[in-house]
Amino acid sequence: MRVKLLPALEDNYMYLLIDEETKECAAVDPVEPEKVVKAVEEEGVKLTSVLTTHHHWDHAGGNEKLAGLVEKLTVYGGDERIGALTNKVTHGDVLHIGKLQVKCMFTPCHTKGHICYFITGGPGEDPAVFTGDTLFLGGCGKFFEGGPQDMYKALVEILGSLPGNTKVYCGHEYTVKNLKYALHVEPVSADVKNKLEWAVKQRSIHKPTVPSTIQEEKKYNPFMRVREMAVRKHTGEEEPVQVMGFLREEKNNFNPK
Ligand SMILES: [Zn+2]
Repeated sequence: MRVKLLPALEDNYMYLLIDEETKECAAVDPVEPEKVVKAVEEEGVKLTSVLTTHHHWDHAGGNEKLAGLVEKLTVYGGDERIGALTNKVTHGDVLHIGKLQVKCMFTPCHTKGHICYFITGGPGEDPAVFTGDTLFLGGCGKFFEGGPQDMYKALVEILGSLPGNTKVYCGHEYTVKNLKYALHVEPVSADVKNKLEWAVKQRSIHKPTVPSTIQEEKKYNPFMRVREMAVRKHTGEEEPVQVMGFLREEKNNFNPK
């Protein structure tokens, strides 16, 4: 499998998920359809599907136009509010892009129809997950249509149980800001410091910080670390769900220099 990252709008990421064996590909959150079509042509692949993480315009807003530009496009998503939706999916649904297997994971909270897509390719290949606005590098999405219990389930129970080597491809480049908050939560963590330093460097030369891995996220992302003593201590809460609620609230009001 190959994932081609396509920056869009201010700080969004679209992706092409390519099965190199069959040359079939899917577009993840193709908010800028022309850019996607151009990349598909350059890669010499066949675009058959759209994987939509959620209905927000900066993710699903290009679906209708893309469906007009590409024949027989199958548009997957977990929410009726998604434009040009042809196949509504739910937790555990499995679909294929060429020979790649895509498993749908229902992760409501940011929106109540949010889906993450877990991809497995051939033996020896690292799996990948497209996390939209549920899991970001070093952070997570705002709880617009859910609560801390939902995000706990999404991050700790669902995404947290994926193999550690799973590559994480998220919906926005928010890493530096997120890690500044992570450092506020765990000021003595070398994992947070090192990743922040690296992320600042990457951004200073206009390179993306995506992807990370699930294993890495568990080391520095406070929202995936709600059961860790250091994080609980920072919040003054014991219960992981309460910790999650505290972190989200604090992060909403956090403005690093
Ligand atoms: Zn969103």
